[in-house]
Amino acid sequence: MLALSREEFESRALAVGDLWLAAVLRGVAVVILAMTLPWALPLAGAPRSWFVVATTALLVVAFAAVLPAVRRADALLKELGLECPSCGEELVGGGRSEGSRHHKVLATGQCPQCGVQLLPPPAPGMAEPRRDPRAYFYFLAILGCLVIGVFGNMWLSGLSYRRADEQRCARWLAAAHSPVQRARVERLRPSRRSKLTCGEVLARAAQPRR
Ligand SMILES: [Zn+2]
Repeated sequence: MLALSREEFESRALAVGDLWLAAVLRGVAVVILAMTLPWALPLAGAPRSWFVVATTALLVVAFAAVLPAVRRADALLKELGLECPSCGEELVGGGRSEGSRHHKVLATGQCPQCGVQLLPPPAPGMAEPRRDPRAYFYFLAILGCLVIGVFGNMWLSGLSYRRADEQRCARWLAAAHSPVQRARVERLRPSRRSKLTCGEVLARAAQPRR
């Protein structure tokens, strides 16, 4: 038997689930920052090496935001009495396919691994296991971060490439010394990615921004 009541076991299992989701949310949020923020550097005229440094630094921060939670999880489960005293099996967690482990423990009172009785079996008519009310908030927040990250990355990187094309064309044009050379520059594409010629790129850049 665990030295816990059913209610206490359930609240602790939900609290551990929240800790996990919070750590995942922190990690995802920082990865999103790493995907978007560094693009502001080339836009501000910073050298390309700064972009690499900023992206790497933010990815390191993302790992630092998640790894300690992963390493602490085992100790925490033991501390909170959420491991089977008989076989050592963790009594929380479990993926979608195998189902939530703490729900199985609550349903039978037994360890899902070795079958030892951990909690008093549920009395007939006892309440269903509680769902974690904060889990929806975390899932929505994680989803929101991903959507912002994908669109933010597309928008900022597009803007940054566009600015780089304009600068390259302007540089080429400044180096052209005759009308023939200038006409040739205007027909060139600034990069393999660009669908526009330098003439079109510079005409677009000269238009007042809407
Ligand atoms: Zn067990």
